[in-house]
Amino acid sequence: MPLKIATLDNHCTMLSDQVLEDFLRQLRGVVIRENDPAYDNSRRVWNGMIDRYPAMIVCCAETSDVMATVKFARTHNLRVSVRGGGHNVAGKAVCDQGIVIDLGRMNSVEVDPEIPSVRVQAGARLADVDEKTRPLGMAVPVGVVSRTGVAGLTLHGGLGWLLRRDGLTVDNLLAMDVVTADGTLITASATEHPELFWALRGGGGNFGVVTSFEYRLRPVTSQVWFAAVLYPYDLAQKAIAFWRDYMATAPRELSSFCVLRGKPMQAAGQKIPRQPVVAFLACYSGPFEKGEEAIRPLREWATPVADFSGPKDYHLGVQRLFDKDYPPGRCYYWDSLFFDDLDATTINCIAAHAEQCVSSLSSVNIWALGGAMNHVPPSETAFGKRDCNFMVAVEANWEEAEGAPGNIAWAVDLVDALRPASRAGVYLNFPGAAAGKLSLVKGSYDGNFAKLQSIKKRYDPDNMWRGNFNILPECDG
Ligand SMILES: Cc1cc2nc3c(=O)[nH]c(=O)nc-3n(C[C@H](O)[C@H](O)[C@H](O)COP(=O)(O)OP(=O)(O)OC[C@H]3O[C@@H](n4cnc5c(N)ncnc54)[C@H](O)[C@@H]3O)c2cc1C
Repeated sequence: MPLKIATLDNHCTMLSDQVLEDFLRQLRGVVIRENDPAYDNSRRVWNGMIDRYPAMIVCCAETSDVMATVKFARTHNLRVSVRGGGHNVAGKAVCDQGIVIDLGRMNSVEVDPEIPSVRVQAGARLADVDEKTRPLGMAVPVGVVSRTGVAGLTLHGGLGWLLRRDGLTVDNLLAMDVVTADGTLITASATEHPELFWALRGGGGNFGVVTSFEYRLRPVTSQVWFAAVLYPYDLAQKAIAFWRDYMATAPRELSSFCVLRGKPMQAAGQKIPRQPVVAFLACYSGPFEKGEEAIRPLREWATPVADFSGPKDYHLGVQRLFDKDYPPGRCYYWDSLFFDDLDATTINCIAAHAEQCVSSLSSVNIWALGGAMNHVPPSETAFGKRDCNFMVAVEANWEEAEGAPGNIAWAVDLVDALRPASRAGVYLNFPGAAAGKLSLVKGSYDGNFAKLQSIKKRYDPDNMWRGNFNILPECDG
């Protein structure tokens, strides 16, 4: 049966059986279409709010499948999306009526202990990397939930428990293999296609399909000191101010965020008190014997309602601690803002608004940035917000799709209220309204945007990679 499929310019075309057969013959992976029993499962992403119907999902088995699919899409001018781990909240990994280039089966992780470095295929999850680096006492600085895809997280920056010591995930990249819009495979590194290497370190999926990432490894002790201290919500304002001041002088080996849960929590697997709380979470990745002291002020600030702090296995404990709180299929809307500082007005606004959340699963998480991330000049990579000291992530999380209007409105209202005091743009891994607003994407890159546009023009002049947080190619004249 001929296949009706969307084109890049939002029209539809028909692909004949012969054209499809010729394409399928080139692949080692499988193609899933609407009549396939695996279709419904394969088109789903982590966020249960996303419900898109691609014309076909190409489950790539190897890089040559990616190249063949890109050439095929290019020849027929087809709409494409790229799926790494499928965890982006905006669901950009899946497109309606087009082709999904699904990298999920390309998930090998190979460690080179000599450099030391690790080569990670683009369908891998954070847990796949942790599993291979753990025996070496090493880690890649990635995010804090182990099922997240490495690819999307890396391409938009990457914030996690080693952030202040080792920088963003992109700061630990040595090279990437990339299939460009004409279907050729190139390597981007400091010496090969250095401009593309610059752009991919924050510029997202705008420049091609990254098939593998090579990261420098960082040493991590197998046990690290982890703080998880819960205080009563009525101390929220004071707690945020204390935490802000403590993080300003804390050692860079301490990465932390402050979490506001305005409704009694239902966190999985922990004996959480049934009351609203403000929590300090922190991981100390310096010498183990110094960790208890580094987290002590966070534990002794006031009388906690619960304290789950202590030594934890970095890879199997800390990195997986929150996995159960973020199951696939639940409904999510996440937004974010960057701040140079948290003044009293901002703190009051956050504390008052977080308490009004609709769902007990929702939270506001304030990340302390700084440290190694700040030591890289903002122009060194495409990522735009290195010089900010805090990021506020607003997480609306709820169970039933019908709850969307109220839960999203809660998040949007808070972001709107905070926006005047914040820096422009968002963290594109927690994209909120940036999913459909080019001005927010532009603002996210600060002074790097014009350079990104000119690199886009060179590597993707026809804007083939547009179903993402899109950077339009620089226009002539
Ligand atoms: C539960 C949870 C926890 C999270 N925690 C953190 C955290 O601690 N720190 C943090 O920084 N972020 C965090 N995030 C955000 C996360 O980084 C983003 O959702 C990220 O996009 C996930 O990557 P992915 O590969 O799963 O995304 P996907 O949804 O597969 O892809 C998102 C987009 O990235 C691009 N893309 C993906 N793969 C490729 C590729 N190989 N080549 C080119 N473009 C590609 C495409 O444009 C795609 O649409 C978290 C997300 C979730 C759901």
